[in-house]
Amino acid sequence: MLNAIGVDVGGTKIAAGVVTPEGEVLKEVRHPTAHTPERVLEGIAGAIEEVRDGFEVGGVSLGVPGTVLSAENKVIFSPNLHAIEGIPLKDELGKRTGLHVTVENDASAAAWGEFRFGAGSDVGHLIFITLGTGVGGGVITNGALLRGAQGAGGELGHVTIQATGPRCGCGNHGCLEALASGTAIQRRAREVASERPDSALGELAAERKVLGEDVTELARRGDEAAISVLEEAGKWLGVGLAGFVNVFNPEVIAVGGGVSEAGDLILSPARREVHLRSRSPGRDLVRIKEATLGPASGILGAAALARHPSGEYVFG
Ligand SMILES: [Zn+2]
Repeated sequence: MLNAIGVDVGGTKIAAGVVTPEGEVLKEVRHPTAHTPERVLEGIAGAIEEVRDGFEVGGVSLGVPGTVLSAENKVIFSPNLHAIEGIPLKDELGKRTGLHVTVENDASAAAWGEFRFGAGSDVGHLIFITLGTGVGGGVITNGALLRGAQGAGGELGHVTIQATGPRCGCGNHGCLEALASGTAIQRRAREVASERPDSALGELAAERKVLGEDVTELARRGDEAAISVLEEAGKWLGVGLAGFVNVFNPEVIAVGGGVSEAGDLILSPARREVHLRSRSPGRDLVRIKEATLGPASGILGAAALARHPSGEYVFG
């Protein structure tokens, strides 16, 4: 079986890797992302060429942030990388590299990575959720990636879990992303810090801007204010996951992204909430755990979604 190239296209960097069917990364490159359409294309094509370097490759797949129309291999909306919107990526990159190119949503690709090589490699029904600046997700059911009619499905971060909640980047109110992302945690941490100025969180906020990782660090050291911020986010996460348990009946929910480094500080309240709100037997089956691949899931998952021109996956 041939290798495939996975490209993780982010708002700040482009990472490309040659991956074997067993999930080994043979070579990897990283470059900062340019922000004009032509230079983004050049950057992606250049990364593909650089990493390809003599390896036998069956196809390329890109994981890109935003709303993807998979049949057209296009991104129609990408709040962190507007320059990529509307470009016919498959044709443009195919011309420049001579390789067969497919385009996927970045979180869906990461979900597929965890399914093939990580936290979900022993199951057929997996939900992956990534808690970073935003919240992304992917659904694998019966071994297949859920795309929906247009390839825009699986946006788990934008289910409404509090109808009158804070405004979300998507324009809605009270999305999971608006309540459990790193950005939401930072916002809540600032509020709690001003309510509890004597806490370690309050003292830090008086000195400088509090970041998501500060909240985790202070919670680990036992600061009640920081713990309460993570507990609240974990609870909201659990409200969202409880719905996914009822709808998809997954065996595993893998939680990745920067916020997942808080581990049980955020996952324990989420598990409690899932147990309270979701139904049996799904709630008894599901295991909610940390994703295992880290940032590599983007490259690995995209590579595993690369296809031959016939439409078959390069990795079978
Ligand atoms: Zn939203």
